[in-house]
Amino acid sequence: MSTKIDPSQFVYIEEFYNSEEFKEKYTYTGDDLGSNYSKEATTFKVWAPTAKKILLQLFEKGVGGEPYEVYEMEKGEKGVYAKTVSKDLNGVYYTYLVTSLDDDTEEAVDVYARATGANGKRGMVVDLSSTNPEGWENDKRVHLAKNTDAVLYEVHIRDFSISETTSAKNKGKLLGMVETGTVNSEGLATGIDHLKELGVTHVHLLPSFDYFSVDEENLDTPQFNWGYDPLNYNVPEGSYSSNPFDGAVRIKEYKEMVQKFHENGIGVVMDVVYNHTGYNDESYFHKTVPYYYHRTFENQFTDASACGNETASERSMVRKYMIDSLTYWMKEYHIDGFRFDLMGIHDIETMNQISDALHEISPECIIYGEGWTGGPSPLAEELRAVKNNTTKLRRIAAFDDNIRDGIKGHVFNLDEKGFVNGGEGYEEEVKFGIVGAVSHDQIDLSKCKTATKFWANNPTQCVNYVEAHDNLTLWDKLLISAEEASEEDRIKMDLLSNAIVILSQGIVFLHAGMDFIRTKGGEENSFASPDSVNAIDWDRKSTYKNVFDYNKGLLSLRKSSPLFRLETAEEVRAALTFLEEGVNWQGKNVIGYVLKNETEQFVVLYNANKTAVEITIPEGDYEVVVNETQAGVEAIEQFTGSKIEVPPISTLVLKK
Ligand code: CA
Repeated sequence: MSTKIDPSQFVYIEEFYNSEEFKEKYTYTGDDLGSNYSKEATTFKVWAPTAKKILLQLFEKGVGGEPYEVYEMEKGEKGVYAKTVSKDLNGVYYTYLVTSLDDDTEEAVDVYARATGANGKRGMVVDLSSTNPEGWENDKRVHLAKNTDAVLYEVHIRDFSISETTSAKNKGKLLGMVETGTVNSEGLATGIDHLKELGVTHVHLLPSFDYFSVDEENLDTPQFNWGYDPLNYNVPEGSYSSNPFDGAVRIKEYKEMVQKFHENGIGVVMDVVYNHTGYNDESYFHKTVPYYYHRTFENQFTDASACGNETASERSMVRKYMIDSLTYWMKEYHIDGFRFDLMGIHDIETMNQISDALHEISPECIIYGEGWTGGPSPLAEELRAVKNNTTKLRRIAAFDDNIRDGIKGHVFNLDEKGFVNGGEGYEEEVKFGIVGAVSHDQIDLSKCKTATKFWANNPTQCVNYVEAHDNLTLWDKLLISAEEASEEDRIKMDLLSNAIVILSQGIVFLHAGMDFIRTKGGEENSFASPDSVNAIDWDRKSTYKNVFDYNKGLLSLRKSSPLFRLETAEEVRAALTFLEEGVNWQGKNVIGYVLKNETEQFVVLYNANKTAVEITIPEGDYEVVVNETQAGVEAIEQFTGSKIEVPPISTLVLKK
C-alpha cells in the first residue's frame, strides 16, 4: 500500500513520524478530542494533521441509511479539525470522511468515540449522564490496601453465564455477570455468588471494549471470540449488551455491572489491548492518520503482536491516546484496574505515565500485564515494558511465567512435566515465585531453568499463576503430561499447584473455573471455539466439590495472615526462610519454608514425590491448617515435635 502522505524530506514514513519536528508541530495536549456533548451544542474534534479535508457526517442510525447532514470541519492548531453543531445531538450517529494529501478518502469512526452503533461502524454522540444507573454517584471502587491483597479471577463474559448448568437468565451478557441467587443443577452457587463464596477480590474481564470478530447484527448465529481484535477502544463490546443497536444501552449495562460488582465487594479489572489494532490499514487509526499509530519498518507494518501490526506507544499522540482512553474508563466506568495484553510492546515511559495518571485517580488502582511481545519489534529491548524491565516500572506488575511453567512444565511443550507432575529440577523456579520474584539469598538463579534475574522490586510487582485463558488449562496439561498418573493423583497435583500459587508472595491470579477443575477438552487456543469448549460447566463444582472447598480454604488462609501478603522485598527476606534439602529432608522434589513475624509462624511444606517424605521443622506445638485433603484457617489436627511426614503429592501447612 502506498503511503498516503508526502513526507518529502524523509525516505520512510516512520522517520517522519518519529522526528522531533513532527512531535513539536503536532502534539496536541487538549482534553477535548472526540464529541463534546451538551444539550445546546456538540463540538467534534479530531486530530488528523495529515488530512487535507475532513467531512463530518451525521446519521439517524448506527447501521444503514444515508447521512442526513454533512459538515466540513475546520483545521485548527496542532492538526486538530473541529466542528460545532448547535443542536441537541444525543443519540445521533456520526463518521468522518478523511481526505489525505494524496486525495484518497476514507470513512473512519472517531477513534475517541464513546458510543457506537452495532458492530462499531459509526460513532454516537452520547449524553453520558443519561447512562448512569440509579445510585451511580455513590458507587465506589473496592478497597485494595496493597496489590498483594488482590485475588484476581480471569473470566470471559460469555463463558461465565452461557451454560445451561447455571440458572442465570442474562446468558452471556454483561448483566449475566452480576445476577445473584443463581445455582447449578445441584443447587450450588454460580456466578457472582460463587465468586463471593470462593473469596476473590477482583474479576478480570477478558476484552470487554468493542472488538470486531463477533457480528453484533446477527447474535442468533452461534459465535464466540475472546476479543483480542480491538475496534473501538472507548466503547463497550456490543454483543455483551441486550441491544447493540442502541449505543447507550451497552454503556448503561456496563455501568450496572460494575456497580453490582462493587456492591458485592468485588473490583473490576479490564483486559486492555492497546498493543495492536484488530484491523491493519482498515483500522480507524490508520484511516484517520495513516501509519501514525502503528510502528513500521520501511513503510511496512511491523508485527510484535503476531496479529498483523503493533502500535507505537512511544509517539506522543499514541501515548496520549492510551492515557486518555484508560483514564476515561476509570472515571466514567469506575474501573478498578487494568491488565495489559502484550505489555512488552509498549514502552516503559508510556506505561509509567499511564500508571501515574491512573494512580492519581485512584491510589489503589491495580495494573499488571504480560511482560513479553508476540514477536520482534523495532522498539529497542531496553525501552520495552517486558518482564525483565519490571524493576523500571512504577506500581506495575508482570505475570510470572517462571512459576507457571515451573509448577506444571512449559506451556508449549505439552508433555513436559514440572514440579507437581513428576518433573525433576524445578524446585528453584517454584521458590522464585514463592518469594514473588524478588531477590532472596536462598534462591540460586543458576539453578533456575528460565528465570535469569530477580525481576520484581517488590512482590507487589509479581502476578503468580499456573493457568490463564491462553494454552491448556491446568487439568488438560496434567492429563497430557501425567498421562500415566491416576485421576486421584492428578487431582492431588492440581491441589498442590493451586496451593503453591495461592500461598506464594505476590498477587494471586486464577482462571475462571480452575477452582473446580476446568477443562477445555485439550484445546490450547480456544479463542474462537464454541461454547461447548469455552463455557464454564458449573456442574463440575458439584463433581469436584472437594477441590473447590480446598481452594476456598487456601484463599481464606491467605487472607487470615499478612504473612502471605507481604508488601516489600525486605519484608519477604525478613519473614521467609527456606528449609533445606539434605538438612531438613533427604531427596528431591520437596520445598519447605518458614514464614514468621513477631506474632505468628507458619511452616509450609510441598512434597511433589509419589512417596511420603519426612521433614524436620522447627520444634514446637502446631496446628495443622492445610493437609492433603483439607485447607483453611481452622486446626485440622494438632502436631507437636520437629519431625513430620508429608504425604505423597501434597501440601502441609502448620501454624504456631
Ligand atoms: Ca463489537
